[in-house]
Order: sequence, then C-alpha cells, then structure tokens
Amino acid sequence: MKNVRCAKCTKCGREYEALPGITTCACGGILDIEYHYDYIKSVFSRESLARCGDYSMWRYRPFLPVEPDSPPTPLRVGWSPLYRADALAQALGLHTLYIKDDGQNPTASLKDRASAMAVVKAREAGADTIACSSTGNAASSLAGNAAAAGFKTYIFVPSRAPKGKVAQLMIFGATVISVDGSYEDTFELSKAAIDRWGWYNRNAAINPYLSEGKKTVTLEIMEQLHWQVPDYIALSVGDGCTIAGAWKGLKDLYAAGFIDRLPKLISVQAEGCCPLNRAIATGEPWTPMEENTLADSIAVGVPRNADKALAAIRESQGVVVNVSDEEILAAMRLLGRTCGVFGEPAGVTGTAGVRKALELSLIDPDSSVVSVVTGNGLKDTANGIRAAGEPMLVKPEMGALLSAFGARDIRP
Ligand SMILES: *Cc1c(COP(=O)(O)O)cnc(C)c1O
Ligand SMILES: [Zn+2]
Repeated sequence: MKNVRCAKCTKCGREYEALPGITTCACGGILDIEYHYDYIKSVFSRESLARCGDYSMWRYRPFLPVEPDSPPTPLRVGWSPLYRADALAQALGLHTLYIKDDGQNPTASLKDRASAMAVVKAREAGADTIACSSTGNAASSLAGNAAAAGFKTYIFVPSRAPKGKVAQLMIFGATVISVDGSYEDTFELSKAAIDRWGWYNRNAAINPYLSEGKKTVTLEIMEQLHWQVPDYIALSVGDGCTIAGAWKGLKDLYAAGFIDRLPKLISVQAEGCCPLNRAIATGEPWTPMEENTLADSIAVGVPRNADKALAAIRESQGVVVNVSDEEILAAMRLLGRTCGVFGEPAGVTGTAGVRKALELSLIDPDSSVVSVVTGNGLKDTANGIRAAGEPMLVKPEMGALLSAFGARDIRP
C-alpha cells in the first residue's frame, strides 16, 4: 500500500505497520490509518476521479487502505443518492438541506461501507471467518457482504435487535448468537470468543480499517456537491465510528487539496443515551449511560470509539444536540412525507437533530446542511408503524369508504 504511511495510536502515538490483521495498540488506544498525501496527490485528483466509471465506494481507492491487487467486494456498496431536500428545508426553516440516503446500500445501512472494508482486509489477512458484535446493522451488513464474498460469519447481537435485522442475518447464513443482555454484554462475549477462536475481528473501533470504509460517505457527499463544502454535516452517533470516519474523510480531502475548507459536524444522540454529547457539553470525560432509546442502532451506553469521535466533534468545532424518542418518530414522518425517504429511528436521528438545533438556535437558518440517513426504515417496521400509525380499515364498499373519509375529514 504505497498510499498508507502507518497505523498510529490515537492515545500514545506509537506507530505500527499497517498489516491487515492489526487491532488496538498495546496501550489499549485505538489506531488511526495515516496516509502519504503527496503520493495520493500524484495519482489522484478531482479530474481523474470524474473519469472513474466505478460508482461504488471503491472509486476512492487511492484514499483507502487496501492493497492495489485486492479485488473489490461483490456487492455494490456506496454511491448512495444525495437529494436536495427543498420541501424539508422549508418545513424546518433552513436555507439549504441535502439528504444523503445511505439506507440504499445493499443491506440497507451505512454499515455496509465498513463491512465491505472488513471483507477485503479479512481476505488480505488470509482469514476465512469474520466475527462481530453489533446493535444490528454492523451484523447484517457483515453477514451480507461476507456471504457474497464466500466468508463464514459469527455474529453476536443483543436480544433486543429488531426482527428485520435478525431476519437479514439468518437469510445471509450467519451463525447468530442472540445475547440476553445489553450491547455492552454482547460486545464482551464476542471479544472473548474472537480471542478464543482467532476469527477476523469486525468489531467497531477495535479494527482501524472500519472507519476508513465509513469515511467514503463524506468523500461521496463532497464529490456529489461538486466540492462545494456545506456549513454542517449531521450524523447520528452511537459508538462514534461513523462520525469519526466522516471527519477522517473530510480531513483527507482537505489534506489532498480536494476541498478548501472543512464543514462543522452536528453530532446527534438520543436523550436517553448520549454519553458522547454529554462529554462535549460538560467538558468532562465521558461516562457510561443506560441504553434508553428506541433508536436501537445508537443505543450505545459504552461507546467504543469515544476518543476519535470526541476529537472529531471538537476539531470541527461541531454542535451537539440530543433528541427525544418522540422527536425521532416525528423525523421519521417528516422525512417520509417531504422526501419519500424511509429511515429507521437511528437513521433519521441526524435529521431530528438538525430540526432541534434550529429550534435551539444552535445553527443559523441561513446555513447549508447535509443530513445523513444512516439506515433504512424497512429494517424496523414496528417503529415505522409506531411513528405513522395504522391505516383506516374499510369493508370493500363505496359507502364504507365514504364514511371512513367523512370520519377523517378526507375530501378527495
Ligand atoms: C451504527 C449506526 C449509527 C451510528 O454509528 P456509530 O459508529 O455506532 O456511531 C447510526 N445509525 C445507524 C442506522 C447505525 O446502524
Ligand atoms: Zn498506544
């Protein structure tokens, strides 16, 4: 990998050779992949990118820590649509809003970007089995991307994981261990099993390549915006790998001269589980919280990538905002009705945060904002129905339809 300099510990600064199987530093710190930007600049530019016909995350290969001869993954991951959302912007009283619908990835969440990377690195490491623990989407994306590439998977999920996500795991042929405990318990059990059987580790934060996969979301956003940098990018935050990856992508683009300034991040968490935002707001070190929200994908009481996420929010001079479950359900309806985008609760939490940040005057209504929808609503139909209710039920007669319309004041 000529483009990669090393893997550097974010805590003690120790540098490691970027071998495919590296995990955390001996000191316990999380590693960060560092690049040779001069080399990247010599082989990659906005112009060369514009000629690239690969509309997947692998179009950014010079920015990614993969061997030049590593084959890409079979599923099409990345290049999700970025919609200009004027009706939603107007409803929120915001000048410019874009929605990046990452629920359109092959297993329907942004996690596919990390899992595709994990599959490539597992192959480079010579592994045949990959394991992870997850609140649900990392699991289903790993199971799908691994199945397509011919790997076995062992997946640990908390028993609260929504049925749609568990169904994905079973369909993709994973060995699924549903853990009767919290995400924290699930993570610890998976760690012990990975140590025991030596599987390739796709756990959030532990594997430094995963956020390099996730960073492709901001590489894409910037290319789709023709390199016009927005004022803010809003993301929902659980373990913190997504927001850290998003920031890494932006910094890479800046370092390689693709963009001339950096946006600010809007970090959105659920009120019932916001350890990272609380740390930013109070200036204190983060401490664990209960996992008290219906947004299961970000119900992370012990965030695994706290250091990188907090650094990203601070470096960007970002905004933190917490939203209630009701505000999340309202954002599901609003995105559906104004954009035709169906997000799962954690998927729309970023957008709920944009609304709340405007209400609290944390951001200027004249701003331009990109809000990333991180997961598709079909994964969790129970909460979709909870957000939007049940339809009217009528007998198959015109009279019944008329009275049902009358009762609801519907005038076609
Ligand atoms: C995982 C996930 C997030 C948050 O990502 P972290 O890396 O855990 O912060 C947000 N939304 C969805 C849908 C997710 O699956
Ligand atoms: Zn270290």
